[in-house]
Amino acid sequence: SNAKQLQEQYSFYQQGQDEHHQRRLTILRDLPLALQSNQLFVVYQPKVDLHQYQCDAAEALIRWVHPELGFVPPDEFIQLAEHAGLINQVTDWMLSAVIRQLASWRQQGIELQVAVNLSAHDLSNPGLPEHIASILQQHQLPSKALALEVTEGAVMRDPKQVIRVLHQLRQMGIDLAIDDFGTGQSSLAYLKQLPVHEVKIDRAFVKDIEHNHQDELIVSATVQLAHGLGLKVTAEGLENKAGLAILLQHQCNIVQGYYFSKPLTAEQFGIWLGGFSAKQNQWFTPEDIG
Ligand code: C2E
Ligand code: MG
Ligand code: MG
Ligand code: MG
Repeated sequence: SNAKQLQEQYSFYQQGQDEHHQRRLTILRDLPLALQSNQLFVVYQPKVDLHQYQCDAAEALIRWVHPELGFVPPDEFIQLAEHAGLINQVTDWMLSAVIRQLASWRQQGIELQVAVNLSAHDLSNPGLPEHIASILQQHQLPSKALALEVTEGAVMRDPKQVIRVLHQLRQMGIDLAIDDFGTGQSSLAYLKQLPVHEVKIDRAFVKDIEHNHQDELIVSATVQLAHGLGLKVTAEGLENKAGLAILLQHQCNIVQGYYFSKPLTAEQFGIWLGGFSAKQNQWFTPEDIG
């Protein structure tokens, strides 16, 4: 009967809800421990400069392999950490791990700029700039080695305070990027007030760019706008060569995506980097380079 079907559907739904709830509780319960054990690690995704055909930057992304749940996606636990007031600890862990790695790369003669993602809560912490300055100093790293990414959404939460913190970071010499550009509900008006260097166009507009004329228009307009404001443009989430040609044609500055590489452990990254500079024409054909 209909009623019975509904009942079954409901209990199926209920069971799903319970499992979902249980998973959230487990994540929140275990995150503090993960911060102190070796369950968390950092992966680095190359950012390739399309004008120099070289890679001198990367984005750092957090990874968590939970002992029972296995891989927990950052989109899932970062959001929970924000709600539970744990995000500042996650960010501190990330900043320390990345800055330590940057120092070690420099000792090996590898000069990279690595970007760390910040959350809305990080930006309402007035102590953040000083905290970052002290870790950089501790490892004797120039501030140019670090970049920070913020989303439009994070800025909109508390624009006055966030803009103040961003200006302080900027004055320290740290490069700033707007992440996931085009997906938030802002923002052209804010763009001119934000002391950012770079706009990262969201993957949503990049992934099918070779098939979708509207995406191409959005990307090309964004590049023109950003360049007009003196900003660089990174396209996120490029997966294939056809898209690369279009991004080059529209003067996009930097590409980050599986086409060049998935995010890699620090060790894998070092190996990738060696191979990349040795085999440039594997990525770029002569027509691209022009
Ligand atoms: P995001 O900052 O926009 O990072 C880019 C995401 O796109 C990464 O997912 C990356 O693996 C993925 N990606 C890059 N290129 C491609 C591609 O060609 N194809 C596909 N399918 N995906 C691509 P990931 O690592 O799962 O991170 C998701 C989000 O989680 C990040 O988006 C960021 O918002 C957040 N996140 C990751 N690590 C951190 C962190 O340390 N702190 C904070 N606050 N957020 C983080
Ligand atoms: Mg990012
Ligand atoms: Mg992004
Ligand atoms: Mg994102």
